[in-house]
Amino acid sequence: MTDAAPPPRMPKLPMTKRLFVKTYGCQMNVYDSARMGELMQPFGYQPAASPDGADLVVLNTCHIREKAAEKVYSELGSIRRLKRARERQGGRMIVVVAGCVAQAEGEEIQARAPFVDIVVGPQAYHRLPELVARAGRGPLLDTSFPAEAKFDHLPQLAGAAGVTAFLTVQEGCDKFCTFCVVPYTRGTEYSRPAGEVIAEARRLVAGGAREITLLGQNVNAYHGAAPDGGEWRLGELLGALAAITGLARLRYTTSHPLDVDEGLVAAHRDVPALMPFLHLPVQSGSDRVLKAMHRRHTAADYRATVERLRKARPDLALSSDFIVGFPGESDDDFRATLDLVRDVGFAQAFSFKYSPRPGTPAALAADQVPEPVKAERLARLQALLGEQQRAFNRSSVGRFLPVLFEKPGRHEGQLVGRSPYLQPVHAQAPAALVGEIVPVRIVAAQPNSLAGELAPQEVAA
Ligand code: SF4
Repeated sequence: MTDAAPPPRMPKLPMTKRLFVKTYGCQMNVYDSARMGELMQPFGYQPAASPDGADLVVLNTCHIREKAAEKVYSELGSIRRLKRARERQGGRMIVVVAGCVAQAEGEEIQARAPFVDIVVGPQAYHRLPELVARAGRGPLLDTSFPAEAKFDHLPQLAGAAGVTAFLTVQEGCDKFCTFCVVPYTRGTEYSRPAGEVIAEARRLVAGGAREITLLGQNVNAYHGAAPDGGEWRLGELLGALAAITGLARLRYTTSHPLDVDEGLVAAHRDVPALMPFLHLPVQSGSDRVLKAMHRRHTAADYRATVERLRKARPDLALSSDFIVGFPGESDDDFRATLDLVRDVGFAQAFSFKYSPRPGTPAALAADQVPEPVKAERLARLQALLGEQQRAFNRSSVGRFLPVLFEKPGRHEGQLVGRSPYLQPVHAQAPAALVGEIVPVRIVAAQPNSLAGELAPQEVAA
């Protein structure tokens, strides 16, 4: 037996850890989840596709939809089993509940799911690295609204972005609609300084983004510090962002009818990059219900706002949110909602049965509408909205629409992108067209998407 040379020593690599983030709810949560991922990257965390075997699991929760908290507890049941299995193998899994359920039910989560290591609210998640470093020494709860601005403590976005990107410009809300938890979970209205938003937009564009959607719970309440020391509203911010070379499209969501000011209407007229599609929630067409919801506008105000916007941008397509069966909603109130839908005409909409959110004033109302009545009204409303959406999509057939291609479609050789009106458009197209805006002839309409064909010269490009 000869003496074998000792095996070469492997250089010590920084240990890679696996981070799984599950996102519930709105685009704001999608944005927050991405930022949490970036926050943890310098500590060696790389994204994982499943919680199985992950070192850090974050559930970024939403409190808007019905039974949101119960869905989180049910997901936590599976996570607990995975955590135990990992511990049996000598590993470790840190479990975090973030987002609006964390904010609203922090202590309850810790009582019902004691294996959760960290509960962190949406205004405190920039402290995630610090909380993760402290994990394992007892449950941690941070649902504070810290005095320091969260955005100042988030890492600057760097590297590749998608063709489309989200950018949070505003958070929280001061409107206090009586059905909504946002003012309690996200806190009062806060607008990021315009210079900071522009710098982040430039980084996104440098990373490949062609379209940016500005996000805020009440995005058109935006009133951020302007670079000249004054204050900008959303219209001015959109105008400044449109000047960024390479940025082709702008959108914003979610807006409140009360905050559609003249500057914003002018932006719809004067900023070609601002796409002619607007999500403008109305919730109900009845003044009585709107008042009970504390929406602070009437159905006539909403119609007038839409008229101002359409005068500025005649091809503007609208989307909206509707709640049916709000406490006290009568048949006449519901009919007023159907009337408003018929008058305005929507290209898309989200509609739900009212469901009480604990801690909101409407949850305590005595005149709750029976479930079967809500269900019947919702079916009628959705039938009308569905008809309008199909008619809108059909009206695109035969037209050439500029489509921003985002990614491969489900079929071989296919790309999928969006029309200016946010309709998904599928077409056979070369992969090189991802990130390009190309005229596409629409040949067929589905309820939720369009099929199109490229002009021959585009296929050859
Ligand atoms: S304006 Fe929107 S976010 Fe604000 S309280 Fe009303 S529904 Fe909630």
